[in-house]
Amino acid sequence: MKKTTSILTDSFGRKHTYLRISLIERCNLRCTYCMPEEGIKLSPRGHLMSYEEIYTIAKTFVDHGVTKIRLTGGEPLIRKDLPIILKKLSSLPVELSITTNAVIVDKFIDPLKSNGIKNINVSLDSLDAGKFKHITRRNEFERTYKNILLLVDEGFKVKVNAVVMKGFNDNEIIDFINFTKDLPVSVRFIEFMPFDGNKWNMEKMLSYDEIMQQVHTSFSEDQVERLTDEPNDTSKNYKIKGFKGSFAIISSVTNPFCDTCNRLRLTANGQLKNCLFSSSELDLLTNLRKGRPIEPIIKKAVEAKFKMRGGMDTIEKLQEPKLHSQNRSMITIGG
Ligand code: SAM
Ligand code: SF4
Repeated sequence: MKKTTSILTDSFGRKHTYLRISLIERCNLRCTYCMPEEGIKLSPRGHLMSYEEIYTIAKTFVDHGVTKIRLTGGEPLIRKDLPIILKKLSSLPVELSITTNAVIVDKFIDPLKSNGIKNINVSLDSLDAGKFKHITRRNEFERTYKNILLLVDEGFKVKVNAVVMKGFNDNEIIDFINFTKDLPVSVRFIEFMPFDGNKWNMEKMLSYDEIMQQVHTSFSEDQVERLTDEPNDTSKNYKIKGFKGSFAIISSVTNPFCDTCNRLRLTANGQLKNCLFSSSELDLLTNLRKGRPIEPIIKKAVEAKFKMRGGMDTIEKLQEPKLHSQNRSMITIGG
């Protein structure tokens, strides 16, 4: 097994083997929990990583022990040079995967397959076209839904991410689970998380316990099987006996998984974030462009990682708007 070198091991002994790279700050949807209503200030084009820079930075991480890279955004599929990025990154010895809203994924089946992508995470927050339009501010339910079916048909391992919010889609938990009856997908219910500009509050969030309570209104203890989670998994996985697919809950708010965290995030403008919730970032891109080594900066970022949620280690701190507004909006972090 490949070893992480010390620059990727933090002060709590966590080894960082998983890098998420955001390819773009723009998106073809406008999910309310991700993109602020007023939009975001985009980085000037010249401040975004080119495909060569993405490759060079990714290779440095891989040389030090990263074994998994997930491409995200914004919407990664709307980046024009995506096929080149896929090709370059697939030459590295890593498991490459992607998170997408799937609106245009039908146009990318060949480059995704030929570059070894097997796992695709797709966002879908509602099975109702009207609600989909409301949350994404775009009328793309049909295309997204059909494309999820297409991805399954094409043999990809698909996870469907649904951010659950009270009064919006909390009445769809059972519908989503029934969606896994004949379809081999994993639906992952994600607790709504606070980021800059997304009007988060605790009352809008449906917790892990509340989700499980709903599950048990339709399925008995006997029917719900607890699956073994993968190492460093952020989700608790379940399945309804006899169903082809499974479901999971990602409880970053009520039950965070920070102890086993192995993730780092690179933003589209080349900033390294050591945690989704961290308000601090270190600039890899400028240093790379100046011809300086980036390893010392990576080391510094990893060493500075807090034990839990970027220092927001209590629910009280999470509820402090000043603390989330120091962080970016999710659309510019890359989930
Ligand atoms: N556009 C792609 C997509 O939607 O899948 C990739 C980027 S998106 C930022 C990545 C993931 O972050 C999505 O699954 C989305 O649901 C999740 N996400 C965004 N904002 C969130 C929030 N406030 N709480 C929980 N998950 C969030
Ligand atoms: Fe776009 Fe994904 Fe954010 Fe929705 S969650 S606005 S699809 S980046």
